[in-house]
Amino acid sequence: MDLEFSPEEIAFRDEVRAFIAESYPQELRGKQDEGDDLTKEDFLSWHRVLAKKGWIAPAWPVEYGGPGWTATQRYIWSEETARADCIRIMPFGITMVGPVIYTFGTAEQKARFLPRILSGEDWWCQGYSEPGAGSDLASLRTRAVLTDDGQHYIVNGQKTWTTMAQHADWGFFLVRTNPDAKQQEGISFLLIDMKTPGITVRPIITLGGEHEVNEVFLEDVKVPVGNRIHEENKGWTCAKFLLAHERAGIAGVAASKRGIEKIRDIAMTEMDGDKPLLADPFYRRKVAELEMDLTALEFTELRTLANEAAGKDAGAAANVLKIKGSEIQQRITELVLEAAGHYGAPYFRGFGEGDNEHPIGPEWANRAAPSYYNMRKTTIYGGSNEVQRNIIAKMVLGL
Ligand SMILES: Cc1cc2nc3c(=O)[nH]c(=O)nc-3n(C[C@H](O)[C@H](O)[C@H](O)COP(=O)(O)OP(=O)(O)OC[C@H]3O[C@@H](n4cnc5c(N)ncnc54)[C@H](O)[C@@H]3O)c2cc1C
Repeated sequence: MDLEFSPEEIAFRDEVRAFIAESYPQELRGKQDEGDDLTKEDFLSWHRVLAKKGWIAPAWPVEYGGPGWTATQRYIWSEETARADCIRIMPFGITMVGPVIYTFGTAEQKARFLPRILSGEDWWCQGYSEPGAGSDLASLRTRAVLTDDGQHYIVNGQKTWTTMAQHADWGFFLVRTNPDAKQQEGISFLLIDMKTPGITVRPIITLGGEHEVNEVFLEDVKVPVGNRIHEENKGWTCAKFLLAHERAGIAGVAASKRGIEKIRDIAMTEMDGDKPLLADPFYRRKVAELEMDLTALEFTELRTLANEAAGKDAGAAANVLKIKGSEIQQRITELVLEAAGHYGAPYFRGFGEGDNEHPIGPEWANRAAPSYYNMRKTTIYGGSNEVQRNIIAKMVLGL
């Protein structure tokens, strides 16, 4: 494994740095750092800049609008955007449904949906999970029944934990089209216009006080057959393909590096008695352990990149990346909360009328508790860590 960047890769890194310095929207600067609540328009303003440059979909093939980057260039891109504290790009269109459409969709579906995903005109959400169908996704019960003329499906059921569905123009949904077949064989993949009559989106307010996830109810929702991707009852193939894309990049190494840098900054300026917090041996030890684990994770990620460049499958390393990456993301918020101490306690969003108390203490501490609570999600979504461990046991130990 060669860990040195080539002169071309260093030139690319410099080009990326210069582009971000010049083009990252002024009004977004510091927003990620200060942990301000990001609006739909915030996400879209950076999305549009990247779409214009042709860099919005790093992993897409060139023929569909990707930039034609190598795995190393994509790695450099994620490092540099994290380093510059750029806000993330919503994954549902670019990382998830886009690849499903260009892999399994018809020419008409590609022409209709892909350009609008790239431009950001359509905001997407993911309708997989249901009450009673999370880890055991194949047991999903939302039903789609073909009309007599064979032109539409009528969809009835409920989805849950649907991230950002309150903003979504479109959703990709897993629905049961054959209740008599074996579980995985009776599922289809439908694209549904979220403005269709019969769809109700109801917020779920999370522990951190945010409106990030929703319940989505579907009542006699009429969906044209032309919105089905791939053959009827072959939706599980698309679903599995998409989950592999969802897990790629979920380790968040670059963002965690930045997170640890912030912890160091905090711990060097916050005083614990007459000494900076970083002088406390217990706290310093935790920071050092976190750094070591992140370095180990980074090497695992680099190894998978080297394998990918050599045309080899990531294998169980992809699941290890998900487990360790998500745990590290959580530990970062734990250390920030510990540094905030009592300053982290009073500030809590989401009581409808505004915040329960005025923020006190340093600015970074205002967000410590909500972030800590919010990040509990990372070991659950994208396939829970327990389920990832089962997969590793099967792949590596043959259990
Ligand atoms: C913040 C957030 C955002 C999300 N966004 C979306 C979204 O946009 N769209 C979407 O479709 N879904 C979304 N999800 C749902 C997510 O995919 C599910 O929560 C996840 O798959 C787990 O399913 P579950 O919540 O039903 O838990 P369950 O499957 O009921 O699991 C409960 C517990 O049992 C454990 N468990 C389950 N099965 C096994 C097993 N076989 N062996 C060992 N342990 C097991 C799990 O690890 C977990 O600890 C989101 C979830 C969260 C938290």
